[in-house]
Amino acid sequence: MKPIIIVRNLSHFYGKRLLRKQVLFDINLTIKQTEIVILTGPSGSGKTTLLSLVGGLLSVQEGSLITLGKEMNGASEQQRVRVRRQMGYIFQGHNLLPFMTARQNVQMSLELHENISDYQAKIKSEAILKVVGLGDRVNYYPQNLSGGQKQRVAIARALVSCPALILADEPTAALDSKTGREVIEIMRRLAKEEAATILMVTHDNRILDVADRIFRMEDGRLLKEDVKITHI
Ligand code: ADP
Ligand code: MG
Repeated sequence: MKPIIIVRNLSHFYGKRLLRKQVLFDINLTIKQTEIVILTGPSGSGKTTLLSLVGGLLSVQEGSLITLGKEMNGASEQQRVRVRRQMGYIFQGHNLLPFMTARQNVQMSLELHENISDYQAKIKSEAILKVVGLGDRVNYYPQNLSGGQKQRVAIARALVSCPALILADEPTAALDSKTGREVIEIMRRLAKEEAATILMVTHDNRILDVADRIFRMEDGRLLKEDVKITHI
């Protein structure tokens, strides 16, 4: 399988001059197509920063980062946007738009793809909501959905365009364990069906077993790969 993410000697800093602080140190990592890779580690260790760099949401300062075949170091905003369109994001806080229904929230992410009609987009959005178990909630507004249901809408929104790469930052943090497990199973199933790759940050020990590989971050460093399921 071809590599989807290649990280070489990646470092990252926040702040300027005296306030400049290094938060990522010399990260090296290669992730291949269809792999599910989990990042764990304490709060503040740099997980979200690494995910944001991979996702083209932050610009690369030092080192090389090739996401979906594109070198992100030195990439223009326009080039980063092009790479971003091939990704699905499930970031902390589901950020659904409150004035749009579940279906409209999902459909919005398809509207970035010009080659799809409104009608097709509507059909696809309803279909994916059905897959995540919300077939009877497509016309509900977020305020009338539970936390777990909102998170499923966010997952449907990330997956509806069949992205090659899915980035998820603590997608189960706000869910009870049963719902968290269900949501992860949905992600895994859809990813395997579409040959997508998943890079996911989680503290949730109960879902580590879905990973092909698990890495731990500490103080901005990526530690050696964990032997799978050692500390559950
Ligand atoms: P994690 O996701 O593992 O909790 P983060 O990547 O969010 O870690 O943060 C890594 C470090 O960078 C932390 O020390 C955090 O305080 C700092 N940090 C994160 N975002 C910013 C920012 N926008 N400006 C300055 N420092 C930041
Ligand atoms: Mg974080």
